[in-house]
This record gives sequence, C-alpha cells and structure tokens, in this order.
Amino acid sequence: MRNISVRDIVDKLDGTLYGSLDAEFSGVYIDTRKVQPGSLYMGFKGEKVDGNELYAEAFLKGATVCVVEREPDSVPEGCAVIKVSSTYRAILDLSFYYRRSLRVKVIGITGSTGKTSTKDILHGMLSKRYKVFKTTGNFNNEIGLPLMIFSLDETYDYAILEMGMSAPLEIHNLARVANPDIAIITNIGLSHIESLGSQENILKAKMEITDFFNQNSLLILNGDDEYLGSIKEKPYRIARGGISRGDTIAKIKELSSDHVSFTVNGKDIIEVGIPGRHNVQNAVLCYIAAKELGISDEDLRFVDVMKSSMRMDLVRMKSLTVINDCYNASPDSMKAGIDYLISFTGRKVAILGTMRELGQESGESHRRVGKFAHDKGVKCLIAVGEYEKEFREGFGDEGFHGFSTFEEAKADLNGLLEESDIVLLKASRGMNFERFLPVLEEFG
Ligand code: ATP
Ligand code: MG
Repeated sequence: MRNISVRDIVDKLDGTLYGSLDAEFSGVYIDTRKVQPGSLYMGFKGEKVDGNELYAEAFLKGATVCVVEREPDSVPEGCAVIKVSSTYRAILDLSFYYRRSLRVKVIGITGSTGKTSTKDILHGMLSKRYKVFKTTGNFNNEIGLPLMIFSLDETYDYAILEMGMSAPLEIHNLARVANPDIAIITNIGLSHIESLGSQENILKAKMEITDFFNQNSLLILNGDDEYLGSIKEKPYRIARGGISRGDTIAKIKELSSDHVSFTVNGKDIIEVGIPGRHNVQNAVLCYIAAKELGISDEDLRFVDVMKSSMRMDLVRMKSLTVINDCYNASPDSMKAGIDYLISFTGRKVAILGTMRELGQESGESHRRVGKFAHDKGVKCLIAVGEYEKEFREGFGDEGFHGFSTFEEAKADLNGLLEESDIVLLKASRGMNFERFLPVLEEFG
C-alpha cells in the first residue's frame, strides 16, 4: 500500500477527527497483534473482544492512525483517531477510495463453489505475462476484500479478487469497492440457501457482481450451469464457457491425479496443473479471461497452478492414499470430490461429514450425495455428524458406517480401513475434518 495522509481520507469516512490531519499511514490492520509501525488500525466488535477499545494498544504497536467507533481518551502526538459510526462501513469506504486511486485492472470471481480454485488457475495463466495479485487465503467478504485491496499498489497489472457472500447486497458492496473490469461466475449451487431461500435468489445475489459494469465490461459465465443459462442480453459483454455448452467449449483429453488437459474449440491442448473434471470447467472460464487480456495460446499450453491447501490435496501415506479435500463442502463439491476419488484404482473409501447451511435442503442433499457415492462405486462410506442417517438412506447398508461425532468415528476408524485404500476426506469447514489426518497417519 502506498502512503496516505489523514487529510485525504477524513471526509471520505464521514467521521470526526481527533489529533493530527497530517498523520500518514501505509497498511491497514484489524488485529492489534499484527499492527506494523506507521499503519492504520481499524477496530471491529467481535464476539469476545471489542476491537474499538484496543486503539491505545495499536498506538503502542506503532500505528499512526486508528479508526474506531468511540471517542479516544487521548491521542499520541502526531497521530490521529477518526471516530466513525460503523467501522464495517468505513473499511468499505476507505478501500473504495484506495481502489479508485490505482490503475490496476480487476477480475472479480464469485459463484457457489470453485471461486478459490478458479482464482488460482487464472493467476497461473495471467502470471505468464503480467504481475498479478490474487486474494490470499479466503479473504473474500466485506472485511477480507478491502484488506486485499489495501495490499495492492501501482506495481500490479491485474488483481484477481474472490468475492463471497451469505446474504443479498454483499456482492453489490464488494463490486462497488473492487470495480471489476471482468467478472466470472463459476456456478449457482446450494451454498447459503439457508439464508437466501432459493437458487433464483442466489443467482440474483451473484449477479450483483455486474452492478457497476459499463458497456466494455465482460461477464464470463459457466455455460453448463442451468441457472446461469437464464441470463440473457445485458448492456455489457457476456461470454460463456463450458464442457458441453457455451461459445468456448473445453473437450477433456486427460484427467490425471495432478493435472487436467483439454482442447478449446478444437484447437491446441492445454494442460493445467490442478486435478479434477470440475477444474476443467473452472479453467475454461479462466481461458476466456486470459484471451481477453492478451495471453497467447502458446503461453497457455502448460499452466502451473499454486493450489490453495485442503482442496484435493493428495497425501501419500505409508499404505493409504488420502485426498484431503476438507476445506469445505457443498453438494456440488462433494460430487466433484467423489468423481476425483473414483478416478483412482484401489478400494474407494469416503469419509464424509455434514454439509452445513443448506436449510430445508439438508436432508435430501445428504441423501443424494450418499446415493451418488454408491452409484459411482465407493465401497465404504464413513459418515460423520448429524446427517449420517440421511447418508445411509442414500448409500444403503452395505459398506456403510455412521457416527454422530468425530470422537466416535476416530475410535473405530482404523478397523474399517484396509491397506492400499484410497480415502476421500470431506465436510464443511466447521467440522474440522483435518483432525482425521493424524488418525489416518496412525493406520499407516
Ligand atoms: P468458499 O465459498 O469456501 O470460499 P470456493 O467457492 O472458494 O469456496 P473452492 O475453495 O475453490 O471454492 O472449492 C471448494 C470445494 O469445491 C473444493 O472441494 C473444490 O475441489 C470444489 N470445487 C471447485 N470447483 C468446483 C466446481 N466448478 N464444481 C464443483 N466443485 C468444485
Ligand atoms: Mg474460497
């Protein structure tokens, strides 16, 4: 982040200033433990701690500016406190201002599943020619995305920013700040249906990514997705990519344990270093973006991907092969994980946990995933959590083992495994399924 003075931002935040108009900062932090000298600290009210009360600690760490929702008792010489009515609003407004001061072009990515994977693939493609920033980790919400924008500076040509949501208008707020030139929507699934009510509402919320588009902007849609198929003419450009439908079609040539390869519209083979059929889907959307930004076919022949962790990580243990895909789970990503599992030779075992936030769809979704696993040839399903009964109803009794808790599953797990098994590990984030890794290591 470049240097900014309080003078430049105080009216943008609509706050009250205490201290020096000349205070300057570079870098924005929301955790006093991470604050660096010469930076801005912004306080948020958390469940346990109210960060608004910690401004004095931030100054001790060297912050020069604090933005909080309270009046300060005192302000160190040469420093400033800006009191605002909402730091949630202030972080969006500050990042809006900072984004407008940069020339970098932004590619925004949203969708129910595959945002992070798509971001990683596109980063691999664009990095062939440009200096490219990508969202680190999963910083994709109304606090995370602004923090990503503060990490940008004039040296970047492109920024690939992930945008997530759990309610209407969140993507609208993120799009206002990020102002994407290109947007990608990976798919419309069931994630967050509990709070949004229907897939139509999810589609509407994801489409908010185009709310600040002009006529030159480009929306890239997954052509195979039923809901995205309903998007018709708009006052901006639309391109569709898919495996069976779209203007740009990827024909799969090879799905291996660590890469995929495919041709595009019958032309040259592209090899992308990330496994799984669903990643061909993600990669074709990235291909359209890369071509739009002038990357040559030659550069796209082999694409290295710096994959984010816990997404289809292949872990070779002494006698087991484990697919650590436990970052998160939704019905679509469960199916993608099972498809990847069955591409291996050996006895297929799936250790699956609850898919959260599916509301009324929960029971049926777990049943369907159980049936999908059975029909695809998974031999042993170890289901953990509150929907183990529904997993069983879909999978059937043969080869099924259900447990209500991690501890119960852990106690019995090794007795259910055989040497040379291929094991898929997958559940929603809150299940912390990585806890199974040391248990599997013990088996060998
Ligand atoms: P989050 O909402 O948690 O940020 P995300 O949208 O960033 O998720 P990823 O982290 O890329 O998604 O992937 C989540 C899971 O979905 C992983 O298991 C991944 O392998 C799988 N996945 C990725 N792309 C797709 C896709 N196009 N269709 C189905 N599953 C996918
Ligand atoms: Mg993500």
